[in-house]
This record gives sequence, structure tokens and C-alpha cells, in this order.
Amino acid sequence: MLTQKEPKTCLSCGKAVKGRSDKKFCDDYCRAAYNNDLKSASNNLIRNVNNALGKNRRVLENLLPQGEPTAKTNRDKLIEKGFQFKYHTHLYQTKNGNTYFYCYEYGYLPLENNWYLIVKREED
Ligand SMILES: [Zn+2]
Repeated sequence: MLTQKEPKTCLSCGKAVKGRSDKKFCDDYCRAAYNNDLKSASNNLIRNVNNALGKNRRVLENLLPQGEPTAKTNRDKLIEKGFQFKYHTHLYQTKNGNTYFYCYEYGYLPLENNWYLIVKREED
């Protein structure tokens, strides 16, 4: 059974909140500041993921010689160039069970011994 409640503190500035027990902020200013912070945190996340995807795409593009349909590279080279394996836009599974990981129109297929086949999806 609850007897004495901890004084509530504002989620934005940390000062004690007076008034109704369900109040989370001291005033509208603190509420707005808190919501803006949340929004900018999620904007940052989106921007970081977009940047990482764009970077991955550029790395694949640079490793695929112009006019060549495919190229092989290894994991070390990809990482050295800043490739982040956790980011991709979509997957493509072939009938024989191979999974290609795509960053926009460029993709890669993991091969044996940390080698990768780089491909570019033809425009359709
Ligand atoms: Zn406050």
C-alpha cells in the first residue's frame, strides 16, 4: 500500500511538479521542450540510418566497375570503406535459396570465406 508518494518531477527540467498527480511537466513550455527533444532524437535516428544506407550504396557502387554486371570483394575491404552490414533497404531471395542484401539498387550476396558478390539491379 502506498502511503507517501515521491514528489513528482518534471520530465523536462527535473523540478518538482505541483498540482494534479498525473501532471508530468511544470508548464506548457517544459512540455513543448520535452516533445521537441523527442522529435529531434527520432529525426537524428532517421538521418543517421539514411546516411548509413547512402554510404553503403556508395561503397558498393565504387566497388563495382563501370559496365561490369558483378564484382567480388571481401569483408575487410567493405569494412575498411565504412560499409555497415546491419543496414540494408531490402532482401531478394532467389529460387535456389540465396539471399541478396540490397542498399537501393546495389546489392551483395555473401559467398564463402567472407567474400561477397556485388550486383546492381537492372532498372525495370
Ligand atoms: Zn519543467
